[in-house]
Amino acid sequence: MDVLKFGGTSVGSASTIKQVVEILNDSNNPKIVVLSAMSGVTNLLVGLHQAAIIQDKDGMEKIMGALTEKHHQAIDELFIDAAKDDVLQAINEYLETIYTVAQAPLQPTSYAELVTYGETLLTRIFSEYLTQQNQPNVLLDSKTFMHVGTVENPDVDQVSQLLKKQIEQHPECSLFISQGFVCLDENGALSTLKRGGSDFSATIIGAAIDAEAVQIWTDIDGLHNNDPRYVEETRPIEHLTYNEAAELAYFGAKVLHPQTVAPVIDRDIPVWLKNTFEPHAPGTKISNEHHNRGLKAISAKDGITAIKIRSNRMLGAHGFLKTIFEIFDRHETSIDMITTSEVAISLTIDDDKNLEAIVTEISVIAAVSVEQDHSIICIVGENLIADHESYKAFGLLNNLPVRMISYGGSKNNISLLVPSKDKIAALQYLNTQLFKLQGVMA
Ligand code: ADP
Ligand code: ASP
Ligand code: MG
Repeated sequence: MDVLKFGGTSVGSASTIKQVVEILNDSNNPKIVVLSAMSGVTNLLVGLHQAAIIQDKDGMEKIMGALTEKHHQAIDELFIDAAKDDVLQAINEYLETIYTVAQAPLQPTSYAELVTYGETLLTRIFSEYLTQQNQPNVLLDSKTFMHVGTVENPDVDQVSQLLKKQIEQHPECSLFISQGFVCLDENGALSTLKRGGSDFSATIIGAAIDAEAVQIWTDIDGLHNNDPRYVEETRPIEHLTYNEAAELAYFGAKVLHPQTVAPVIDRDIPVWLKNTFEPHAPGTKISNEHHNRGLKAISAKDGITAIKIRSNRMLGAHGFLKTIFEIFDRHETSIDMITTSEVAISLTIDDDKNLEAIVTEISVIAAVSVEQDHSIICIVGENLIADHESYKAFGLLNNLPVRMISYGGSKNNISLLVPSKDKIAALQYLNTQLFKLQGVMA
């Protein structure tokens, strides 16, 4: 069985939905299709929740109008005759429920309840459209099997048991449709896999059914060697190892949710990144095969805070780092980069929710300074360090406003911390120097 995930732009209108159906018809393998919401819909639902918090009735009505128009238009173009009325009725019922939830006193789960409706709406339309096209399919409700426990470390075995039981009930069916993004947390409460989480849904499901492959279909022909939103003439990479893809996704390559490859690494299930609008382009294959060594790609993650800790107590003493790490641990804040000298530590975090409390605690034992609005630029390649490819990057540092460097943590990655205002220039400069001029490409 294959898992095919289609992102928001791939299902953003009636014409792209038809394109997706053509892709499904390209192979006879049994499939689970994981869908996002139509493009822009999750943002509208997040806006609805915010409007509900401040009781902005006009705002809520406008958003409901936009949601209705978007889905009605797709239905209008996809369906004919009686099927159209049935689907319209079902979607209108969902829309009424959404508005009711938004108007009622908000609960802790209201956010998840509202924002996951985008996937519910679209999968219903998609499944009914397949039926109209005489393509038998079963619509699975991901709330009934995506019981992941913690999002950080999803319980694939539990998802597997629940999902397989449902699949077994339909031995005649080779096409299942389900919602990405949606999950239940460790308390059994409705939750999400965070923004962009449908990629992660696809690999959790892929691992749960021991899929032959997971295909992530999007609006670009694979994972590119630099961020195409900021750099011109980027190119798709044919092959990445799981670790390379994990580093690039974690450090900002928006095309993949940061946790996407985690569930499939140990099970060795390949992940393909493919372009819905150019289905025959090769795309990117992510697997444990080792093909070409050397520099492969650069990505950047924003919203990084650098914390510098200085204390003479560190001189010749042991245990200082442990004390510092325990403070971050207590505040459930993970550290991305770290460098130390004899009397100082610099480290970075991306979640600054508990920053104030962390700084207050550290201040008792050391001098602390905080610099916000930084970005981590991550240079990734296979055996970058062992092959001494990294000298090419180090030769360029003179021209970059680098605040911290992490080298040697893994042999596939060099990370640079720069002020976010310099990020785009740094990405462009590294692209010209590392890929274009020297012709180094995977
Ligand atoms: P989807 O809605 O299909 O999940 P996303 O918008 O989440 O799609 O991701 C696709 C977008 O990611 C591309 O259109 C591209 O602009 C952006 N992107 C950022 N970094 C990269 C990269 N290194 N390679 C490819 N795309 C990237
Ligand atoms: N629809 C959700 C979002 O926009 C999940 C996803 O698209 O992956 O974040
Ligand atoms: Mg995405």
